[in-house]
Amino acid sequence: MSGPTRTRIDASHIIAYDARAGEHRYLRGGVVVVEGDSVVHVGKTFDGPTDERIDATGQIVTPGFVNVHAHLAGSPLDKSFIEDRGPRQFYLSGLFELLPARGAGQDAEATQVCFDYSMIELLRTGTTTILEMGPLLEEAIPSALAAGMRLYLGPSIRDGRWFTDNGRTVRYDWDEAAGRAALRRAVEFIERHDGSHGGLIKGFLSPLQVDTCTAALLREVRKEADRLRVPVQIHVGQSVNEFQEMVARHGQTPIEWLESLGFLAPDVILGHAIILGGGSWANYQADDLGIIARSGAAVAHSPWVFARRGIALESFSRYLATGVPLALGTDTAPQSMLEAMKFAAVVSKIVDRQTEVATAADVFTAATLGGARAIGRDDLGRIAPGAKADLLFFDADTLWMTPLRDPIKNIVYSAQAHDLADVMVNGKIVMRDRQVLGLDEREVCRRLQAGGERMWPAMARGHWAGRDADTLSPQSFPPWEG
Ligand SMILES: [Zn+2]
Repeated sequence: MSGPTRTRIDASHIIAYDARAGEHRYLRGGVVVVEGDSVVHVGKTFDGPTDERIDATGQIVTPGFVNVHAHLAGSPLDKSFIEDRGPRQFYLSGLFELLPARGAGQDAEATQVCFDYSMIELLRTGTTTILEMGPLLEEAIPSALAAGMRLYLGPSIRDGRWFTDNGRTVRYDWDEAAGRAALRRAVEFIERHDGSHGGLIKGFLSPLQVDTCTAALLREVRKEADRLRVPVQIHVGQSVNEFQEMVARHGQTPIEWLESLGFLAPDVILGHAIILGGGSWANYQADDLGIIARSGAAVAHSPWVFARRGIALESFSRYLATGVPLALGTDTAPQSMLEAMKFAAVVSKIVDRQTEVATAADVFTAATLGGARAIGRDDLGRIAPGAKADLLFFDADTLWMTPLRDPIKNIVYSAQAHDLADVMVNGKIVMRDRQVLGLDEREVCRRLQAGGERMWPAMARGHWAGRDADTLSPQSFPPWEG
């Protein structure tokens, strides 16, 4: 009887993991051996027998990216609408006026195509593990399986919801029974999908936002996380309104409040954590960063969704120096970890007014090992024996990647999606020569365009004053007259 297929990958450049150092190393000219769904060897040479060979001469082989923050069901339709807009009344956030309008216009077919589109966009930009938070979760599974993506689903749990009915204030509705029911559904989902589909589909707990969950609900979530031993992600520190609401409710910052509930722990991922006590956006005296660092909770940093509104983490390098575990996410469109790494590095350098901080190594580590640590996986985000074979194959000789002396600097600062040629997930090639094998990119783009065409005219019904898409987000240039 033959065992699982053993494949040797001979590559010009490999970003390999040194377990003793706990860091990546640059292996120039080497071999990765994959058996079944796992890496069994990485080194300069390999003398054992193999069944197949992948010639990655002229390529850079790196671990796939662990993207810890996404809303795949809608993010592709943020594009072409939400950019350049941020109401000053809500401190530039789009959460209270723009996203409700966008969401209200979207139909079920548009949601389905968003999942397909997202899988293609993510694989083409190097994501091989994705954490998705949203209400419509089962529908993501067929898309992920078609693409071959490693998918963590966090069915949203909350007992409150925010809204505005006047464009000036944020108000909240509460339904505690609905929150408990959402938690039960999430737990049932997690138990049903623990390692289903060859381990590619898993669940996590996602109490959605710090200001839409009661203390009682968060205590229940904490208990379930301890029992199920799954990651937990909550949005916190994502808007000035949220921060001020929590201070008004509790006399505590959102982070202080989570700490007081006993919620924070190393299995918790804080989505954004950008508007913090002790930072300039909230202008409120506190040591939120110290609390996070001592708790071991990770921050899911999605730089673009804030940078596009002029809001910056203060700062990637300072969080690192304080001991906050950092991971990267994409959150909105474009869902590109290549861009997330670049923005994380560049925005931190601007905030810090320094060059030699938030380096390519720092952001690449956050995109790989940082994400893996955040979800409690020591077999992801690295090329090492025992790790899952989630591998990216970048061409080293393209226009953007030439000249190549330091592959990580090139990947972080210069690489385009086009430079990523092939992707392997769980030992299987799922993208070859820039084509995601299980989905039809042209067809998916056509369906997404049609979904947008249906959504844009229907958005006014989700805005508190019935404003339409062209009022909320005028065309960049006025229409041609005459
Ligand atoms: Zn989010």
